[in-house]
Amino acid sequence: MSATPTEDGDVRADVAIVGAGPAGSVAAFVLARAGLDVVLMDRARFPRDKACGDGLMPDALAALAAIGLADRALAGARRLTALRIYTPNGTPVTVNGEFAVVPRERLDACLCDAAVDAGARLLTPVRAIGPVEQNGRVAGVVGETAGGGSVCVRARTTVLATGAGAGPLTAFGVCEQSRPSGMAARFYVVPEDEGARVDLDALCVSFNRSICPGYGWVFPGPGGSFNIGVGYSTAAPPETKNLRVLMARFVENFPPARELTRMAGRRSDVHGAPLRTGLTGSRLSEPGVLVVGDAAGFTYPITGEGIGKAIESGILAAEIIRDGVRANRSAEAIANAYRDGVEKTFRARFQAYENAQRWLAFPRLLDFLAWRANSGSYVRKQFRALAADIVDPRAILSFGGLIRTLFT
Ligand SMILES: Cc1cc2nc3c(=O)[nH]c(=O)nc-3n(C[C@H](O)[C@H](O)[C@H](O)COP(=O)(O)OP(=O)(O)OC[C@H]3O[C@@H](n4cnc5c(N)ncnc54)[C@H](O)[C@@H]3O)c2cc1C
Repeated sequence: MSATPTEDGDVRADVAIVGAGPAGSVAAFVLARAGLDVVLMDRARFPRDKACGDGLMPDALAALAAIGLADRALAGARRLTALRIYTPNGTPVTVNGEFAVVPRERLDACLCDAAVDAGARLLTPVRAIGPVEQNGRVAGVVGETAGGGSVCVRARTTVLATGAGAGPLTAFGVCEQSRPSGMAARFYVVPEDEGARVDLDALCVSFNRSICPGYGWVFPGPGGSFNIGVGYSTAAPPETKNLRVLMARFVENFPPARELTRMAGRRSDVHGAPLRTGLTGSRLSEPGVLVVGDAAGFTYPITGEGIGKAIESGILAAEIIRDGVRANRSAEAIANAYRDGVEKTFRARFQAYENAQRWLAFPRLLDFLAWRANSGSYVRKQFRALAADIVDPRAILSFGGLIRTLFT
């Protein structure tokens, strides 16, 4: 804990940010760099682990570069230039682009440090238990220290960046769906001979028939490590909603995962976590509160990627708060500007991924799409643009897009 309380025991700040994952730390960094007084609170002491595939897609790399944190965040990362998607029958489609793998323990500590270096005051380990209320609206956050003491942070704006759990959203009255949209789990393998026999040169994502409509991945990380995991949507049939069963099937049926787990070497425990996808599950804002990252469902359905959009939403919220404070805008105006910004920039994108998630119920369609991607340059170009997040995903992830893909 490092924010000094005032005489009444409260901590005062312009902005209180709850959650120091990518969304919260980046928001704190942008605001502190702009000269605002920011308190960043997390229930964990950093560095802390987070169950994740650790894959940074082009949107994450671009967002980090936009705020000048790419070099710092990617020090020691494993850089890759290809994403390989395996369809249910095992057909690979390779999409070229810029990708990186950084263990979350390292990435999140680095972003949190960057926020502190920019001037944010870090309060850890402090668990947010509810809002400070004034005149019927949120005016900060009440936290509980590891020793059971309480901390009250009074701030004009509170940013909730608490990830996929529903607890803090419910406490702040912005939860619309307490059930997560999916679950995912991963473990690490570090083969003794540093991957000499498994030479993966790409992030591998698989929709292997044995786990469909779930997904799995094998991501080569730094130091000869591999991150292996599976995920499912809660909309999937009940028999596919068991992470241990999915993991066992994936490791048995996806050749790179099978080979890696059979090799001698170190293997970590399996860790799982909920996902909140498709911009669902919480209200985006209320006067005095903005919700960013996984807490607001900023993870893509189908792929479970959310780091890039968590960072983008943190930046968007921070810029709107910063401009609002400078122009002395009301809490209502700031809340509306953030909601409008999210709707305009992200809603259609998430809707397209949501629609495409239904395609997973038709494995043959995915096999056919892969065949088209491997035999025609139009489809391959669309996939590359989709992975780079530089195209409206409706160009391919929509009924019209599908028809174009099948017949162009
Ligand atoms: C197994 C798995 C694999 C994934 N793989 C990938 C991948 O490869 N690439 C990708 O882009 N995305 C991936 N994701 C999604 C990605 O992990 C999330 O989108 C991302 O972590 C969201 O960042 P965030 O900052 O919103 O939340 P988080 O990273 O979850 O951070 C939330 C923070 O809030 C803190 N917190 C929570 N409650 C409280 C409280 N009450 N008080 C104080 N602090 C609190 C937590 O301690 C945590 O530090 C994966 C998810 C899972 C589960």
